[in-house]
Amino acid sequence: MEIKKAEFVRSISRGGEYFNPGLPEIAVVGKSNVGKSSLINMLTNNRKLARVSKQPGKTRLVNYFLLNNAFYLVDLPGYGFARVSKEEKKSWDEMMRSYFEAARHLKAVLILMDIRHKPTAEDLMMVQFVEYFAIPYVVGATKADKIAKSKRFNECARLRRQIPSSFAYEIVPLSSEDGYGKEKLLGILEPYLQS
Ligand code: GDP
Repeated sequence: MEIKKAEFVRSISRGGEYFNPGLPEIAVVGKSNVGKSSLINMLTNNRKLARVSKQPGKTRLVNYFLLNNAFYLVDLPGYGFARVSKEEKKSWDEMMRSYFEAARHLKAVLILMDIRHKPTAEDLMMVQFVEYFAIPYVVGATKADKIAKSKRFNECARLRRQIPSSFAYEIVPLSSEDGYGKEKLLGILEPYLQS
């Protein structure tokens, strides 16, 4: 699958109404600073589509991007920043829950984790959350350029061992710096869009 066209459609904030545009959706989630915005830009060949943040956790929005006029890539708010209040955490929980309950055309979720790190408790909760909604997911192991090519396979295997799961899912090493893993990821996601 080649991404020929990508456009920002809209943002939804807490309490906002989710829209069901009828086209398939793929959602992207991950810990703040994991490289989600950079990845969206890399996948869409657009360096400015998603805002790469220097301040982790600043925006708490669900952003919809329309790709190839055929499906939505939905950028969900990042999680896991150190200094958030209980109130903010609650607001994130609410946003996620209402998105997943409303997203009737959600076909798959891309869960991002840094290839160098152990999944955090929140990463594992995210996996459980997506499993609870019975949505297929793919784990994207970000910032793969930070480790040698020869080590990427092993690090992905290590990540898999650290994610307790009864679901079958793929893990793809990715780099937004050099585009590594892009074709593979799009190839994995494509069949979900047709399902
Ligand atoms: P987000 O908070 O998950 O949206 O993360 P961002 O896309 O804003 O990236 C957070 C930081 O990680 C930025 O400084 C990016 O330049 C950097 N970054 C993101 N992806 C990569 C990657 O694939 N390789 C490297 N080396 N750095 C990355």
